[in-house]
Parts: sequence; structure tokens; C-alpha cells
Amino acid sequence: MRKRLGVVGVGSAGVLSLIHFCTWLNNDWEIVSIYDPNKKILGIGESTNGGFVGLLEKGTHFALGHQKDLDALDATLKFGSRFVSWREHSWVNPLLDGNAAIHFNNFFFKDFAFERLRKLWPKKFTVLEGNVSSMVNHEDRVTLTVDGSEHEFDYVLDCMGFPPDFEGYHISDCSPVNHCLIHSQLPGEFTYEPYTDHIATENGWMFGVPLQSRKTFGYLFNNKITDKAAAQADLRKLLKTSEIDGEVGRGIKTPEYVFNCYYARQMIDGRIGRNGNKALFFEPLIANSIFIYIYTARLFYDYINGVANHIDVNRAFVKAVQEMEDVITYYYQGGSLYDTEFWRYAVPAAKKRLETRGEFKQLMALFRNLKNQGILHHGPTYAFQPLTWEIVDEALGYGFIEEKQKAAV
Ligand SMILES: Cc1cc2nc3c(=O)[nH]c(=O)nc-3n(C[C@H](O)[C@H](O)[C@H](O)COP(=O)(O)OP(=O)(O)OC[C@H]3O[C@@H](n4cnc5c(N)ncnc54)[C@H](O)[C@@H]3O)c2cc1C
Repeated sequence: MRKRLGVVGVGSAGVLSLIHFCTWLNNDWEIVSIYDPNKKILGIGESTNGGFVGLLEKGTHFALGHQKDLDALDATLKFGSRFVSWREHSWVNPLLDGNAAIHFNNFFFKDFAFERLRKLWPKKFTVLEGNVSSMVNHEDRVTLTVDGSEHEFDYVLDCMGFPPDFEGYHISDCSPVNHCLIHSQLPGEFTYEPYTDHIATENGWMFGVPLQSRKTFGYLFNNKITDKAAAQADLRKLLKTSEIDGEVGRGIKTPEYVFNCYYARQMIDGRIGRNGNKALFFEPLIANSIFIYIYTARLFYDYINGVANHIDVNRAFVKAVQEMEDVITYYYQGGSLYDTEFWRYAVPAAKKRLETRGEFKQLMALFRNLKNQGILHHGPTYAFQPLTWEIVDEALGYGFIEEKQKAAV
């Protein structure tokens, strides 16, 4: 009897999960993409890490060396995140994994993937369009009601975006920003470089994601500290423009996002799993989201194949998410070149939070010990690999791993 896995949603999380399951599940599985074409994807989130390219290579035969593949995703190469104005010097922060990644246009992702999945995995991949009005867990199956008709699945992965409420979610205090203004420059207005900009500002930081057709900036701030007009003014000044997209109704569909950071206490409940913004949301420092979505898809794979039970998987999910919380807070605790109300709030808040994180402190002690023995790379991965911790700790001048690297932060 064939098994049916339903993946609801075709935002970045839904599509990459489909690619993962088509790549790794055998032909005993039917993998069904379910989505409502009338419900738009979030349409932001275009910087990635190496694992994303690896996933696309196996599941869609995407290749960095095939220009037509890059063009199909409006994509550019990415070798890291360039941090500017966090310290006197700037640096290229290594990727969370792998050596090369891409910036991609997530409005093109579904169509690119569907064309390839249909061609490469015709025995597994099918599509069901419609609005999911209910998902019911049973002992041996899940019943989805799609446009009023019931459909049975062995398992369902819910990638339907932001949750309607936060019952069953932990609200995270890892990040001091909660608002983002978006502005895009067009070709001729920017010079492409293979990095995602991470530029500290007086009110937070700004990302810059270069695609082939545009470079999209996101100005992140805290709207309880900085009012929107001041943020818009600083964004105009930084990008040397007299008007930004949100003020003139230009550019990508959603010119601003207001958010809080959270994660699901349980990634799996019965035969239903969650991924994407339905599972967690963190601010976009080092493009952490898609990195976690890929790990979450792998955890769900282990669960539906009986390799791991729901307790182990939920624990592994929360551990991975809490490691990423620590990485985000780690960047803020040393401040930036700006001595402003925002940074005077962010730094002590971050230091206080990291003080409560025994896992983080144990990790730094372990890394220091391994470094002293000359075997740092024997250390564990904690969101970052030991090499990345070493490079970033030196760049930030924290001296957590090597005392002599400590700078007056
Ligand atoms: C400012 C900002 C910058 C970001 N930058 C990055 C970045 O650089 N890198 C990164 O990895 N992440 C980034 N993110 C995170 C980003 O949120 C995610 O990458 C991505 O958008 C996740 O979307 P999703 O797939 O969870 O859901 P969505 O994009 O919201 O898609 C939801 C899907 O569910 C479907 N759906 C919803 N309800 C129903 C229903 N009832 N029935 C059927 N279908 C339904 C919709 O049709 C849609 O297909 C950023 C986020 C923000 C706010």
C-alpha cells in the first residue's frame, strides 16, 4: 500500500521540504504538494547557506555552474555575509554550512522546483490545489479538508506560514529588532558582490541581498525605541535615495514587516509536523531560517521513517533552535560602532540573556580547552562549526575562544 505524505504550502519552507522528500523517500511514497494559489507566499527571505545548494543539486539537478539555472531563480552566488560598522574593520562571515550558496528570488522558487520535480520524480511528486480548512490527526492517518473535500494522508507537514496565534509557541528574546523596512535598488544602482550585506546602523542593522534583477535591502529596527519616520530617514540617508519603496508603493509587494521571534514547543504533534514560519521565526541574521528549515525537514524524514520518535525529534528541534538563538544574541552583545539608544538597549539585554545560557558558556569553555590543545576542530557544531566560531569570535574581538583575541568591547 503506497504511503502518502502531504506538504501544505509552497513558500520557501514547503518547496524545500518537497525537494528533500522527493530526493530521499523511496517510490513507496506519494509526495503531495497542497497549496492555495489565492494565498500568496511571504515573498521575502532570499539569502541562503551551502546546504540549500546541496539540496537543490540532488533534488532538482540545479548546478552553480549552469547559468540557466541561476537565471531561472534570478540568482547570484554568495560566499558569506559581510559585516560592516559592527567593528572598525569589516569581515566576511562564513556561511552556516558549505562553501558556496546563492541569493535567489523566492517568487520564482515554486515554478522552478515544480518543473524539475515533475521531470525527475514523476513516480512520487503530485500536486493538489485548494484551501485547507482543517487538518485532523488520527491514530493511523491525517484527514485534510481541501476545498470542502476530505483527503487522507499518512503524514502531513504544515508549511502554511505565520501561525494564527502563539498557543504552543515559545516567544523568543534572542533579538532586539522587531520591524523591517524594505527597499530595492535596480541594476545600475548597485554593484554586485557575492555577499549578503550586514550593515550595523544607529537603529539596528540593514541587510542587502543582491539578485540579478534587484538588490533588496531590509532596514531592521525596534519600533518601541525608534519611530518609523526616523528609520525611513536613516534608510534614505544610507542608500542615498530621496524616496524608499514603501513611501511610493514601488518594489516588491510587501514593503515592511513587523514581527516577533518565536518557535514551536513541539515541531511534531501526532502525524502532523511543522516547518517554515509555522515552526519558528527569527530575525534574518546570517540567513538562519532556511538553514533550520532544511534541518527540520530532515528531522521529519527520520520521524516518518520510524528512525526517531516524536520525543527525540521535538527535543532535537528545540536544541537546534536554541543554538541559533544564542548565535543571534552573541552578535548583539558586543554592540557596534554606534553609541545610540538602540545599542544601549541591545547590548545589556544580549549580555544578560547569554549569562543565562549554560549550554553556550559550556561550549565556549570547551572550545577554549580544545584550542589550547591545538584540536579546536574536534569540537561540536553548535549552529556554527568550530571554524566559524573561531573566525567570528576573532572578528568580533570577544576572546571567548582565545584570550589574546579579546578587544575592548
Ligand atoms: C524581513 C525578512 C527577511 C528575511 N530574510 C531571510 C533570508 O535572507 N533567508 C532566509 O532563509 N529566511 C529569511 N526570512 C525568513 C522568511 O520568513 C522565510 O524564509 C520564508 O519566507 C518562510 O516562508 P514559509 O515558507 O514558512 O511561508 P509562506 O511564504 O508564508 O508560505 C505559506 C504557504 O502556505 C500556503 N497556505 C497558507 N494557508 C493555506 C491554506 N489554508 N490552504 C492551503 N495553502 C495555504 C500559501 O499558499 C503559501 O504557499 C526573512 C523574513 C523576513 C520577515
